[in-house]
Amino acid sequence: MPAGIQESLKQRGVRLTRQRRLLLDLIDSSGLHLDAESLYQMAKERDARLNRVTVYRTLKLLKEGGLVDELDLAHFQGDQHYYETRLKKEHAHIICLRCGRVEEFFGEELQQLRAQVGSQFGFEILFARTEIGGYCPHCRALREQEEATPAAS
Ligand SMILES: [Zn+2]
Ligand SMILES: [Zn+2]
Repeated sequence: MPAGIQESLKQRGVRLTRQRRLLLDLIDSSGLHLDAESLYQMAKERDARLNRVTVYRTLKLLKEGGLVDELDLAHFQGDQHYYETRLKKEHAHIICLRCGRVEEFFGEELQQLRAQVGSQFGFEILFARTEIGGYCPHCRALREQEEATPAAS
């Protein structure tokens, strides 16, 4: 685990217990956007003593400690939340509303938008969360097929 995290944890007064470290590692190494239930299932494989309540509580704590981001990814699956590490450079999420595929956009334009909003509104910006919803190439093709061949009723 990078020294930077340890330091920021100490500053925030968050103790990194074994369970917290395990979850943080899972989120960090997956590089994905996992929901609490998937994280619980993964964590359980590494430590059978972990229970659901602990995992959910730990996620909340990691979020409050500024270590992970909680996302709703345009609510493509209702109220589900997803977690990702905050060690990644700020990025926008592009979500396929049909299959749930998530892409990440790291373009320089995001920094420009941030700067522009900051100066135009006089804001000190702490975070920028950008979500773009639509259909991925695969789902676009499927949707075209569906439209071309209406289901026989
Ligand atoms: Zn898709
Ligand atoms: Zn992401």
